[in-house]
Amino acid sequence: MPVEKTAEAGAAGPAQKKSRRRKPKAERPAESPPPARKPAEGPATEARRQARIQPARPILKRFGEMVLSEPMLAALSEAGYEAPTPVQAGLIPKALEGRDLMGQAQTGTGKTAAFAIPLLEKLTDKPRQRDPSALVLVPTRELAVQVRDEFAKLIGKRKLNAVAVYGGKPIRGQIEHLRQGAEIAVGTPGRVLDLIDRRALNLGAIEHVVLDEADRMLDIGFRPDIEKILRRCPQSRQTLLLSATIPPPVKRLAERYMHEPEMLDFSPKDVAVETIEQFYFTVDPQRKFDLLTRLIEREQPRQAIVFCRTKRGTDRVGARLARRLNSAAVIHGDLPQKLRDRVMADFRAGKVRYLVATDVVGRGIDVTSISHIINFDIPEFCDDYVHRVGRTGRMGREGVAYTFVSPEEGNELTRIEMRINRLLQRDEIAGFDAIARPEPIEAATAEPAQTAQTAKPKPVFGRRTRRIRRAL
Ligand code: ADP
Ligand code: MG
Repeated sequence: MPVEKTAEAGAAGPAQKKSRRRKPKAERPAESPPPARKPAEGPATEARRQARIQPARPILKRFGEMVLSEPMLAALSEAGYEAPTPVQAGLIPKALEGRDLMGQAQTGTGKTAAFAIPLLEKLTDKPRQRDPSALVLVPTRELAVQVRDEFAKLIGKRKLNAVAVYGGKPIRGQIEHLRQGAEIAVGTPGRVLDLIDRRALNLGAIEHVVLDEADRMLDIGFRPDIEKILRRCPQSRQTLLLSATIPPPVKRLAERYMHEPEMLDFSPKDVAVETIEQFYFTVDPQRKFDLLTRLIEREQPRQAIVFCRTKRGTDRVGARLARRLNSAAVIHGDLPQKLRDRVMADFRAGKVRYLVATDVVGRGIDVTSISHIINFDIPEFCDDYVHRVGRTGRMGREGVAYTFVSPEEGNELTRIEMRINRLLQRDEIAGFDAIARPEPIEAATAEPAQTAQTAKPKPVFGRRTRRIRRAL
């Protein structure tokens, strides 16, 4: 059990007058450009939105320009996928050649289809066999279901089967599924090993292995299981790794399991998606919950995920939120799977509007109507920040992320800004400052630095700002 770190509690603050939605330009600290969010609708706005929906770097304009089978093109058209995203355009042809690949691309850019499409193409004309040919490993049960569903969508009318195998559900049904024959197994490492032990899953015929959310899969928690599983797969297999963040140590480690892998990096500068506006609040830890409710009141999110660091913190915030709003729910790894499934289903259906979650369970969730991410606790690792905020702003949609920062967490905020190569804009709700409001920072340039290396000084880390950041 991790040590409880979440500092949320505290009495409700005095009733605040509903703050203005946005401060007028002159009042906002000048460290960042004025927010362009939710401007008045008009032709220019529509044009901008259209531009955003287009893949950022359209290497290929349509799936038809790839060498894909008719059934695949039919399934893509049925799914409403017209053009490949950059990661898909880059990865699919190389994966079809059978190469080992590491693909790094921003969250919400279709990495699942980037590996699912070539895998399905390879499996289409193969004679049916008893054991799976492809194994996709994912860190959470929710992701196992989501990835299996994406496979199902892309299989279309073909006679291929993808089965999800994950813990917390009776193993019998999954064994039965495998027995009936599935070309693709999508699973969490623990359950995959369990099925191997029971001789219900044989990896001897595996030709393709995918590690989705690769950095998480290779972290210390999962690595021993992953190694055991990979040892069971034939050496001649193709291995694909995908994540929004593949830090160098993970890359070096991954090379041990791969054969001359090629790294395809589609997010050299901006690891977080450009369509997500990102703000922070400075707040006393005891007042975070009040700030949360005020923020929700102000923003009226369509759907939001509220991230906490620990399971217990998640429970506490969720329980308090549920008392106030009837469409709040909690999800974390200690909850029974039935409940997790129900919460996810309700969240996808829009019945749950506010989902309070841990990093672990939040990984990879793709629910398109998530408009807001609220980091109730600042994430422990910068990469977790990238994954958290990536739950919104998916496929070119707009989203907004708020991070609560307590006075002693200024350095964490700075580290995140260095990592994403972008400044978070400061936001405020009257009465929630952890300290007296600093004087506005004058004449800071609006442009974020161009690369992580140059993300230094001017706007964020100028002398004045540095002082304020430390005192946050
Ligand atoms: P990632 O793994 O990169 O975070 P996902 O694979 O979860 O992203 O995909 C995000 C969303 O985009 C999904 O809802 C998926 O159905 C959709 N999607 C994927 N590829 C395309 C495409 N080429 N055109 C339109 N939508 C797509
Ligand atoms: Mg994904």
